[in-house]
Amino acid sequence: MRHHQVSSADFHSRFQALSQSGIPEQIAQEFSLEVLVKEAPALFPYHTKYKNLHLYSDHPFKDVDAIPILVEVHHRLSDSPIYDEKRARSAFICNDEWKEELFLGSKGKIGGRAYLRAAPHVFFTKADVKNDALLSEYRPIASPRTLTYYLTHEFTHVALGEHLGMKRFEALPKWVFEGYPEFVGLGPGYTAEKAATAYKNRDPRVHGTLAEDYMRYGLMVATYLEDHSLEELLSSPPDEGSFSKLFQALVENRRERNLNTTATGEIQN
Ligand SMILES: [Zn+2]
Repeated sequence: MRHHQVSSADFHSRFQALSQSGIPEQIAQEFSLEVLVKEAPALFPYHTKYKNLHLYSDHPFKDVDAIPILVEVHHRLSDSPIYDEKRARSAFICNDEWKEELFLGSKGKIGGRAYLRAAPHVFFTKADVKNDALLSEYRPIASPRTLTYYLTHEFTHVALGEHLGMKRFEALPKWVFEGYPEFVGLGPGYTAEKAATAYKNRDPRVHGTLAEDYMRYGLMVATYLEDHSLEELLSSPPDEGSFSKLFQALVENRRERNLNTTATGEIQN
């Protein structure tokens, strides 16, 4: 599909005109998604930045709340060898429902989405910046999946895409594609040991959900990176099946622990 070239100034003035007429969402009918992603800063009037990391929102937020989040996101990203802090990154928080629908594809189903082709822009559902949380159904998503985590996760998708090129990026197996952003997103303290503990002690309510898949993928990546480089992981990732022994061991270990617990009467927390 080909689109006419649109200048940023034209886009900006058209959006202002629509906003003044009380129908800002009509912008989505007039321009391609590619243009809307690229020109997204015009749609989100509130902005702050730390180094190369930009945060935009359509609702006001305070720098004093946002900057510490961006500092921590930068810290987590810097732990990844493929992160290039010379490249600008922009994140957009969609509080307006039409923007959430437009950029995330559906309301309330996913927390964030990264775009790469049009611009390295990542979009998020409603957020409470003051409390470092994305909001799902107006309730904050619990730690450790904070706004800091989500920003780092989506920016890591961008870093992977830029590092590998779109073809290799899109060919990554799911466990690496999602597991590496999970691993980086949870921060430098997220070791294989911690990942295993989190996986073993996972809330039964996450069973069979996307959250459980992400925990498993994060554990696989953390385990693999204990004795392999990131380049090895990205260039010749083992298939998901070769981790089945690891999960078997985890399950058996848990059974054994449960037996011990019963025998000694200890209380498990
Ligand atoms: Zn992801």
